[in-house]
Amino acid sequence: MPTLDFKPIQHPGLILTPHDLDAIKQKVRASAWAKATFDDLIAEADRWTSEGVRIPDRKGQWMHFYACPEDGTHLRTISDTEHRCPACGKTYTGEPYDSVVIRNRHMALGDAAVDLGLAYHLTGDQKYLQTARQIVLGYADRYLSYPLVDKDGKANANDGGRVFCTLLNESNWLIAVCWAYDLIAPDLSTSERRHVCEDMLHPAGAQVIRRRNLKIHNIQCWMNSAMGLAALCCGDGELAHHAIRSETGLEAQLEKGILSDGLWWECSWGYHFYTMSALWPLTEAARQIGLEASPPRYKSLYDAPLRFAFPGLYLPPLNDSGSGVHLPDRCETYEIACARWRDPRHAGLLQNVERRGRLALCFGPPDLAPAPPDTTESVNFPAGGVAILRDQTTLVTLDYGPHGGGHGHPDKLGLILYGAGRVMAPDPGSIQYGVPLHLEWFKTTVSHNTVSVDMSPQKPCAGKLLTFRPGRDAQIASASADDAYPGVRFRRTLALLTNGIVLDLCELSSDEEHVYDYIYHNRGAFSSPLPLRDLSSPIGAGHGYQHIRGPRSARTDGDWTARWDDGDAGVCLAMTGAPGTEVITGIGPGNPPSEMLPLILARRRDRAAQFAVALVVYKNSAPDVQLSLEASGAKAWRVRVQVGDDSRTVELPRY
Ligand SMILES: [Zn+2]
Ligand SMILES: [Zn+2]
Repeated sequence: MPTLDFKPIQHPGLILTPHDLDAIKQKVRASAWAKATFDDLIAEADRWTSEGVRIPDRKGQWMHFYACPEDGTHLRTISDTEHRCPACGKTYTGEPYDSVVIRNRHMALGDAAVDLGLAYHLTGDQKYLQTARQIVLGYADRYLSYPLVDKDGKANANDGGRVFCTLLNESNWLIAVCWAYDLIAPDLSTSERRHVCEDMLHPAGAQVIRRRNLKIHNIQCWMNSAMGLAALCCGDGELAHHAIRSETGLEAQLEKGILSDGLWWECSWGYHFYTMSALWPLTEAARQIGLEASPPRYKSLYDAPLRFAFPGLYLPPLNDSGSGVHLPDRCETYEIACARWRDPRHAGLLQNVERRGRLALCFGPPDLAPAPPDTTESVNFPAGGVAILRDQTTLVTLDYGPHGGGHGHPDKLGLILYGAGRVMAPDPGSIQYGVPLHLEWFKTTVSHNTVSVDMSPQKPCAGKLLTFRPGRDAQIASASADDAYPGVRFRRTLALLTNGIVLDLCELSSDEEHVYDYIYHNRGAFSSPLPLRDLSSPIGAGHGYQHIRGPRSARTDGDWTARWDDGDAGVCLAMTGAPGTEVITGIGPGNPPSEMLPLILARRRDRAAQFAVALVVYKNSAPDVQLSLEASGAKAWRVRVQVGDDSRTVELPRY
């Protein structure tokens, strides 16, 4: 078995050394934000010390069960045994909910032990040491007695830890416990240290967590950090090699998991940031033993969100990513980035947030040299496969990238439209995975702004960028996704003109006849001059169609329009006519699912379908929009769009 030779850790020295602790004290004396953060830490440590340590005698349950079974809304904890849905008001008791609260307590205790260890070092106050000892030694006493089962109570399952029912949570927690142990180890006796290592840290890392391997994956990054820290604490060079240098170790994750454009390969901002949080404990610990696991790609993981962000530093929920990421809420790891790379753009992000939290205190430079983020240029992420067209007011994305693994959505060539200071046409994102609606709606094609064929979901696939022409009056991106539906050729071109005008051309063709649905969801109140009539509900038996409520439909051979009014702004849609078009409207779940969003499906049954659309973001009053399109030779379409008095003619590529 290959091993990694490293000098035994001099505690504390796993993540912070005595020198670092002195620097933190200096920072607390010198800057107000560090003092405020220190005060938070001490308040938290005092709370744990006065409350007393109560380690639950049973293991925690899967947090994705903590949602209302009726409507999928995340529950609020009223007490250890009462769990209320904020949407429908129903209160749940018993399992699995009670044990999710237990899970949260285990997690909080691990974190508390770190805070207490830091508070002890920064103040010298023995009471913090005593409370941290109670937690670390308390868990060492119990660790091997928690049953090794998964969320369904199954032993010998693929997943399942001892304190938690997932190896992911076991890893999240073990990282904190290793760090806490490192902070208090000099004050433990030799036999106490052996007890912690042999009865908890080592079996947790080498037996419980190591038994599973998820290859290149965000969860493997958490598992690597947990195994790596445990290995360094316990002096196990073989386990350290596995966590850092094996083909799924830290170095491989950095090399293979981060795409060339800086996106984490799962192409979800939620998991991008989650992976950042997973990587740093071991990259920092590796630094302490003289391994600089920091290739240029590692920094690009921090650069990519700043290049991608929508106005307001918002990152949309591509794939499983909740309702998206508000960058200022998730930028704590940029404190470490600033300490390591001193990039003024990273500092610019931190300058606009309240610098608080453990990472700011432990790693953040006392003073920042910031540069403002520049997020008004169009940009293409060739590996993650997202083209972003934008100007000062409007932004539209075209998603053509790889599927994104288990957290991917069948949303190829989907678009997100932002304008008038809000996301108008969103990607629905994801909700808690334990709720059936997650698979039934959020992971379908019809919940996305793309095209579905024969009312079925797209196949997981990667699309291909055909054109990316930023920085002109008409900024253009085109892509294909011919593998989304085998036997169907699928092209989409988006063009962003000035004044909030987006042209959208979807072209599909096949040797066989199909049902092609152009799908578009937008926030606001829906209206259309079409003579819509009620349809019997639901309009489909599955693949998300069953969740479209209040369906109405109209047939039209001619050009048609629709509108979404959202307060002082909205979106007008104009589509060129084609014989036999059926327009279906209704509402579908948004995020949270209780917020319904009006949608349209433009349906054509034929071998080929062309959907030529203008989407116009307006402020104050809705303009008249007219659209026409004609071939301009074999390689181009000439598109004319009239928005009120504003008339434009644009040539779009023809494939
Ligand atoms: Zn509910
Ligand atoms: Zn999605």
